[in-house]
Amino acid sequence: MSPNTSKDAIDIDCVVAEESKLEKLVGPQAGPWKYEIIYGNLAVFGYFHLAALYGLYLALTSGPAWSTIIFHCFIFFFASFGVSAGLHRLWSHNAFKAKLPLQIILIICTSLTFQYSVLNWVRDHRLHHRYTDTDADPHNAARGVFFSHIGWLLVKKHPEVKRRGKFTDMRDVNANPVLRFQKKWAVPFIGSICFIIPTLIPVYFWNESLNVAWHLSFLRYVASLHQTFLVNSYAHFVGTRPYDKRILPTNNRSVNFFVMGEGFHNFHHAFPWDYRSAELGTLFFNPSTWFIELFAKIGWAYDLKTASESVIEGRAQRTGDGTRVQYKSDLNVNS
Ligand SMILES: [Zn+2]
Ligand SMILES: [Zn+2]
Repeated sequence: MSPNTSKDAIDIDCVVAEESKLEKLVGPQAGPWKYEIIYGNLAVFGYFHLAALYGLYLALTSGPAWSTIIFHCFIFFFASFGVSAGLHRLWSHNAFKAKLPLQIILIICTSLTFQYSVLNWVRDHRLHHRYTDTDADPHNAARGVFFSHIGWLLVKKHPEVKRRGKFTDMRDVNANPVLRFQKKWAVPFIGSICFIIPTLIPVYFWNESLNVAWHLSFLRYVASLHQTFLVNSYAHFVGTRPYDKRILPTNNRSVNFFVMGEGFHNFHHAFPWDYRSAELGTLFFNPSTWFIELFAKIGWAYDLKTASESVIEGRAQRTGDGTRVQYKSDLNVNS
């Protein structure tokens, strides 16, 4: 697909004018809506979870080689960096720029967790930020924890998601050849990296049984999915709102441990362009930030964007819930 498709060429002013004619949605908001289950997705996710549970059973009872378990833990961490540093901070928010070698590393890391193509993920995520916790948000947390966690993937999209999705500016990512390649070859490319190769490596190199290798791949994959989903669900319900008390997203230190530094979600919704996805990120457990900074040292990551201390302070005073003071004192950091 050429980067200059007619869709990309839509005059942004026309799009803004068309969008402004629609009713303004203010979150949290969820109107009456009849869910229509997609039974194919239900069956696929059902299989993923049953396979993962069987993988867990095999891991606990059949004594898989330690090499297989360590191998999947290793992959799990790289998949996490793919989602947080790649899918999220780089491609969805342009919070930093990446040279081609880092983009290739990140597209492989991202593909270790099959969340379909980067272009699909970015479209949904930009919509999530533009219409947070309203009917036009694909995983609207105003519909509850289950819907925002996984339910949204099991039902047809809300009409507002379809209607307003076309206003999402995708010109930058649509012009990226790495992302166009991954979209074009999504099923064979991502399927091979996520499932086939991680199954064959333990079988070929240390004689793991095919049954164990296959089901441990699904265990790792499902853990990866829920790691991402936790940010959409738990980090929209439990925690503090130091920067904006009017929105559902929260700062949550416990979930932050599991999501590699993506748990300061109230900060992220207030300053989505900040590559740290958190204030004081380098002082906190924020492996995704360390990952980006590591590559910045060799020049593969550059133009790292941050919100200034004064901007953060101003926003916290205007719209925060007052917990930023405690948050900073816990870190022994003075203003
Ligand atoms: Zn969010
Ligand atoms: Zn985001």
